[in-house]
Amino acid sequence: MDALATPIAGTAAGGYPADGLQLLIGGKWQAGRGSPLRISNPATGQTLAEPTGASQEDLDAALTSAETGFALWRRTPATARAAILSRAAQLLRERTKPLARLLTLEQGKPLAQAELEITLCAETFDWYAAEAGRAYGRIIPARSPGARQMVLPEPIGPVAAFTPWNFPALLAARKVAPALAAGCSCILKPAEETPAAALGLGRALADAGLPDGVLNIVFGDPAMISRHLIASPVIRKITFTGSVPVGRSLAVLAAQQVKPCTLELGGHAPVIVLDDADIDAAAALSAIGKTRNAGQVCTSPTRFYVQRPAYERFVERFGAALGQIALGDGLDPRSEMGPLANARRIEAMERLVTDATRHQAEIVTGGAREGDRGFFWCPTLLANVPDDAAAMTEEPFGPLALVSPFDELDEAIARANRSAVGLAGYAFTRSAAAAVRLGEELEVGVLGLNSFAVSHTEAPFSGVKDSGYGYEGGSEGLAGFLHQKYVHHS
Ligand code: NAD
Repeated sequence: MDALATPIAGTAAGGYPADGLQLLIGGKWQAGRGSPLRISNPATGQTLAEPTGASQEDLDAALTSAETGFALWRRTPATARAAILSRAAQLLRERTKPLARLLTLEQGKPLAQAELEITLCAETFDWYAAEAGRAYGRIIPARSPGARQMVLPEPIGPVAAFTPWNFPALLAARKVAPALAAGCSCILKPAEETPAAALGLGRALADAGLPDGVLNIVFGDPAMISRHLIASPVIRKITFTGSVPVGRSLAVLAAQQVKPCTLELGGHAPVIVLDDADIDAAAALSAIGKTRNAGQVCTSPTRFYVQRPAYERFVERFGAALGQIALGDGLDPRSEMGPLANARRIEAMERLVTDATRHQAEIVTGGAREGDRGFFWCPTLLANVPDDAAAMTEEPFGPLALVSPFDELDEAIARANRSAVGLAGYAFTRSAAAAVRLGEELEVGVLGLNSFAVSHTEAPFSGVKDSGYGYEGGSEGLAGFLHQKYVHHS
């Protein structure tokens, strides 16, 4: 088995495929001819690999290959496309442990979370394998006898997919699986910090029999790659997950070429805790939800608005639970939270905590970096955070929770909605009436009631406001890669 599926024991980089990080173009694995990159382990700072990124010539080769791949793949029956996706899902299951190890090495999350991520990739491939056969068209009652009025779904064309470093495997799977199921070819650009896990998906698909050129993977200078790919007439659809500023710039590039975009951007999730909720359970669940992937999740719960009678108890229980989270290298099975992914996140934590305390917020737990090796930050709870603290508007994208009391539900909903972004929102309550109101009035794309689970393979996922547009997940995720062609036959 190859380096992207099995770690090589005893290598200096702890099993990372230092020489195996190559581009996938036209079915061939090849070294990039662009600028050099450095990939490092966020738990130790140790260099894992120094591959070369894609050059413009590499990108042109990937575009030609995606064009050829599309001509073949669009004519491949849905059942054959599905069989390859299902085989790839099976291979991912067999390779879960070595792939999870690569993911932890380059991204930092605890191994158990990395294994779950690979398992969810397999689930995504399986789900869209089945969905490939459900891209139904429709017959419209004809305007005249003998005529046919038909809607025929067809793949939209070669896709450029850009994915971030926080879920390097799953966020790639959520774009690649529906694109391939729909009959599109794809050029995937994983984040330059974490290419190995996405390359592992590419290896599984190639080993499952995906024809050459249907999936191409390139990484390197992100701005150069996105500009080059989006400008090419070959690309017919853009899909991006990442920050609001980068999403905005890609949307501009796409608009200049009149190309459709799906954008999954940042969030700043509010959590409304009513005093009728099970406060202890909400606090315990909040500590788990906040520290998942060290808070580097676009749906991470961040702004906690707690009804005043329950405020003190919630803050005390939440702070205690956060203080007990075991921080450590993701490869250590005792670790419940790993490091942040890079130095940028540590700088953001320092800046946001300093600003909040200047605005009279109180540190209940954490508030500081842990050790001087890697990028560890203690799970942090700030209480009585005023609305004008920077952290209340800027997504922390780290293990930082902010708590503030409220009196009436109207006030909590208004403060929750005051954000420019609207991705996930959460509420804890036993009241059916409050749940209905929250469902109707919170300006978010996905809502968890007494739960932090808002992203499932079979369900649509999308933001409102600056959090982006278009859908991933569910049948809506497939629809984004289809054009509905209307055919009138008289
Ligand atoms: P960033 O905007 O610099 O980079 C985010 C990702 O976008 C990286 O993976 C990078 O490869 C990619 N990227 C950057 N410029 C690009 C370009 N011109 N074309 C294509 N891809 C490009 O942010 P960061 O400092 O790495 O991460 C912090 C912020 O990013 C967070 O505050 C969060 O809002 C956002 N983010 C969101 C998600 C998400 O799931 N929605 C994931 C990761 C990061």
